Amino acid sequence: MNKDSLYSSDSLPPLNIYRGRFAPSPSGPLHFGSLVSALASYLDAKANHGVWLVRMEDIDPPREMAGAADTILKQLERHGLYWDDAVLYQSQRSKAYQSVLEKLKQTGQIYPCQCSRQQLKEHQGIHNYRCELFDQTAPFALRLSAKKPCQMTFHDIFQSNQQQDIQQEVGDMVLYRKDQLFAYQLAVVVDDAFQQITHVIRGSDLLSSTPRQIYLQQQLKLPTPEYGHIPVAVNPNGQKLSKQNHAKSIDDNTAEQNLATAIRWLGLPLPASHTFTNCDELLTWGISHWQRSKIPKMQEKVASN
Ligand code: GLU
Repeated sequence: MNKDSLYSSDSLPPLNIYRGRFAPSPSGPLHFGSLVSALASYLDAKANHGVWLVRMEDIDPPREMAGAADTILKQLERHGLYWDDAVLYQSQRSKAYQSVLEKLKQTGQIYPCQCSRQQLKEHQGIHNYRCELFDQTAPFALRLSAKKPCQMTFHDIFQSNQQQDIQQEVGDMVLYRKDQLFAYQLAVVVDDAFQQITHVIRGSDLLSSTPRQIYLQQQLKLPTPEYGHIPVAVNPNGQKLSKQNHAKSIDDNTAEQNLATAIRWLGLPLPASHTFTNCDELLTWGISHWQRSKIPKMQEKVASN
């Protein structure tokens, strides 16, 4: 791991090299679901002789937990998941996001929106029209105007062909929030391009965001990575394991066990007969046995811990 090396786009390898990433939001420590996402992106990158990066998506302070970013990094290390270049922190990328907004403003593709939740509800939550600015002095969001119709299709590595009409199904996406924060959809697209990510392997809770991200890439003339969405781990009540659903942090004292459970969860038949003494051995086994075809299709899987 060269965690402390300075991130520099000059030192990036050629584009044909696989570049994957894990991009946690520091709203709490890693739970089993996020460990599975980290592991899947790591194994897919390493099995393809690629580079694996970590990006801290710390652009939403109201949802963040103090110290969680450091905790997540320590947990990754404890599980042997070492990243290959310095961590990119989105909180330090405001200038890049701002300049993309300026560009879209110049081409007339974004518009201000002050619509309330109630107004959105009246349109079934889908905002696909340019609205009036009610109060020139009050804060507003910025939305990207989607074409009409805006049918997007893409092939998912694990979930095969996907399609979505952005206009009808999600509406004009918010790129800048009314609470004056950059939106996830903007930051993720700008940074996947900045880090020259070629493969995005992540949880299927983000599957429906992918068409929007591809659309934004097209508007900004940025390359589109390949996408693969793994089923999300759910609790016995069928809820996604997440900080909002109070998923418990993984126990760093049982890192080998956590990793073994996550490897099996990804469809890899870890042999019971062999004793793995540390995380490195488990990861080496995982890399050499990684098979994309083993990843379960979209039905959600109940996590055993
Ligand atoms: N930061 C997002 C999350 O923790 C993931 C973003 C992504 O992988 O694109 O849910």
